[in-house]
Amino acid sequence: MSSKVQILFKNIHKKDSHTYKVYCQDGGYKQAERAMSMSTEDVIDEVKRAGIRGRGGAGFPAGLKWSFIPKDNSRDKYLVCNADEGEPGTCKDRDIMRYTPHMLIEGMVIAAYAVGAERGYIYIRGEFVREAEILEEAIKEAYDNGRLGKNINGKKIRFDLAIHRGGGAYVCGEETGLIESLEGKKGQPRVKPPFPANIGLWGGPTVINNVETLASVPSIIENGGEWYGNLGVEKSSGTKLFSISGHVNKPGNYEVELGIPMKTLIEEYAGGVRGGWDNLKGVIPGGSSSAILPKDVCDTVTMDYDAIAKAGSMLGSGAMIVLDKSVCIVKAVERLSRFYRHESCGQCTPCREGTGWISQIMTRIENGQGVEGDIDLLLSIGDNISGKTICALGDAAVGPVAGSIKAFRDEYIYHVEHGRCMVG
Ligand code: SF4
Repeated sequence: MSSKVQILFKNIHKKDSHTYKVYCQDGGYKQAERAMSMSTEDVIDEVKRAGIRGRGGAGFPAGLKWSFIPKDNSRDKYLVCNADEGEPGTCKDRDIMRYTPHMLIEGMVIAAYAVGAERGYIYIRGEFVREAEILEEAIKEAYDNGRLGKNINGKKIRFDLAIHRGGGAYVCGEETGLIESLEGKKGQPRVKPPFPANIGLWGGPTVINNVETLASVPSIIENGGEWYGNLGVEKSSGTKLFSISGHVNKPGNYEVELGIPMKTLIEEYAGGVRGGWDNLKGVIPGGSSSAILPKDVCDTVTMDYDAIAKAGSMLGSGAMIVLDKSVCIVKAVERLSRFYRHESCGQCTPCREGTGWISQIMTRIENGQGVEGDIDLLLSIGDNISGKTICALGDAAVGPVAGSIKAFRDEYIYHVEHGRCMVG
């Protein structure tokens, strides 16, 4: 496995890489033309063959998702790009939109053609002001050059694309919460089924894909699904952007093939752990909702969906938060629990009440007022949230708490018994 293949970041070092002119110098929009010379079924099959899994966090196979869209044209269909990127630690989609927005637009044109959608939206996190401006400009360029709108590439194919700026709620990164928000309502997730592929935006069949997923599509069409499928490892094909933050010497976004050892990624790409590898305490591997992995697991685990799941966490959005030995786990998780409490939309009782209880207990322990039984109480509350809510935010709130108790129970016990942190 070579870790040097660049798909998403192949052009970002070029001056003005965000412009139509520079994107087209390297064959930009040729893949949309190629896709439109294929049948829609063949385009979907190519993406299926690539095996690309959704890069927003859930990891659902993109080609399969596209194939769920009904073939009949009795209702308008929609394509929505999830650019909300609200998972703490994640900042990869921002770089795609900032440096190579036409790759995303081209990916959307191909996806829209494949599923028969004539209208699309990019739901972008409201805080991404500059990125929204860049995207607006790129969309205008695409319209001006016949890549969007009516008669795309001279064919009877139409796709209109617009940007919608979100209001900053984490839960609007959940696809049905996003749809509600896009429709102008409160961003509260819907009960599923029905799934968006059947009843989505404005009641029409809707595909929602993450920025990174859609931006990968032109390369899949260019090189073939088999080529893409051979990158990475089995069931985790292709390249992935990892946002590496925390106690590393070179934090940033890195594109590598899935399956790379976590240690290699941190040591060779992100400049290593502050104070050296032996100073590592643990890594949150896939955004703040994923369970922290202790150093002994990080020593050998590889960065792919199955390996991270087997290790007891999830690859999620690929946002790695590296924690060295100066970190008090209880304090770090207490902060995360406050975040999830704040972001709960309040629709379902286990999440609304449970995230509040978890946060209160975590704060109590952190403040030196923890009591015997608090640790098991946290786990019990978590059990009563996980899998019992409308959307995955409930599970997301439980992940860091349950994971950190499993890996660092001694720190929790010390906190409760001594009323303070064991790391000083
Ligand atoms: Fe809202 Fe939480 Fe229920 Fe999701 S799990 S719908 S965020 S209350």
